[in-house]
Amino acid sequence: MDSCVFCQIANKKIPTHFVFETAGIVAFKDIKPSAPVHYLIIPKEHVKSVAHLNETHDAIAAELIFAARDLADKLGLKGYKLVFNVGSEGGQVIDHLHLHLLGGWNNKTDIDAMPHPRLDK
Ligand code: 5GP
Ligand code: ZN
Repeated sequence: MDSCVFCQIANKKIPTHFVFETAGIVAFKDIKPSAPVHYLIIPKEHVKSVAHLNETHDAIAAELIFAARDLADKLGLKGYKLVFNVGSEGGQVIDHLHLHLLGGWNNKTDIDAMPHPRLDK
């Protein structure tokens, strides 16, 4: 989709360093990190969100999760968070499916506060 920034990244129209690429997905650093380590893993196909996945997307959905796990391992992260924001009410800003890989915190307060503010603060 021409107007979609993540399609443009996946199609290499916006130059972006990929830390991982297969026929179906790419992974790259988030431009405005919300954690010390913050990567995005996206399908090359334009799918709006988790809410728009159907049975043709089984392999892609699995590949996103395995790629995030493998990237976290490569980065030496012992623990991390994997987040899909779904729809504007779920905090999704870019309407192209993406999995956030978040990690690298070194204290429990920061770990607990991410990826959303604690309700009991
Ligand atoms: P969302 O809120 O939609 O789940 O997350 C979108 C994420 O994409 C945000 O964390 C934002 O910083 C990141 N982002 C938005 N535009 C770009 C871009 O052009 N390049 C990269 N690398 N990240 C982007
Ligand atoms: Zn797109």
